[in-house]
Amino acid sequence: MITLKILAFIFGSMIGSFLNAVIYRVPRKINIAVPRSHCTKCKKQIYWYENIPVLSYIFLRGKCSKCKAPYSVQYPLIEAFVGLVAIFLMPRTYDSMALMYYFLYFSIFCALLCHFIIDIKHQILPDSINIYLALIFFCIAFIKYTPIYYLSGAAIGFLFPYLVTLAFYHLKGQQGLGGGDIKLFAALGIILGPVGIINNIFLSCFFGAIFSLVMMGLGKMSRTTKLAFGPFIIIVAVFQIFFPALFKQFSSLWSI
Ligand SMILES: [Zn+2]
Repeated sequence: MITLKILAFIFGSMIGSFLNAVIYRVPRKINIAVPRSHCTKCKKQIYWYENIPVLSYIFLRGKCSKCKAPYSVQYPLIEAFVGLVAIFLMPRTYDSMALMYYFLYFSIFCALLCHFIIDIKHQILPDSINIYLALIFFCIAFIKYTPIYYLSGAAIGFLFPYLVTLAFYHLKGQQGLGGGDIKLFAALGIILGPVGIINNIFLSCFFGAIFSLVMMGLGKMSRTTKLAFGPFIIIVAVFQIFFPALFKQFSSLWSI
């Protein structure tokens, strides 16, 4: 069992290393595969032995081996974190179905993590990641749920926030949600279904509003500061997708 856990960690941290490239490159519209990893300052190519997840950062003391420019601590942290998540999601049995779900749910987590960090840094939720998520959600929903469940979930996830945003825009002349947020809701509707996506919309707006009020109260934000909303949607979605029992307990607080 311990060997499998070590293998899962190595696999996860290697994927984490790839996600670092996605997080850096996708919002800058740089191809993910080429050019190969290089120091963003002196452009020196990073050799495979300098690109071993977590370990290389420690051996290189967090600096480029040529120009000594510091590498962000975000790189090893994400590698280690994704490695731990790969262990956490490990199935109890190893039949083909369990393994398939393992990879599907692990990919969902990876895409949500990229979305989360890219939105905080650049205030965008890239279309490519939304499409990727929608495809994986569809694979799972197609096996587990009825067409009514995932089609109505996606329709509500798109239409409800879209119409509210449109109304808000006509009334106040301000755009509430971005297009990326609405597309993410639509994608999540596929796996969360109609009730799940409504829960997500209300809870993420609720937490987003509380966060804004606290930040404004502390003087760290003004009414015009643009707030990345994706992270709130994602935190709620992670609870709904990965901790459904916990979420059910929590949601029994307001449902009858
Ligand atoms: Zn360098």
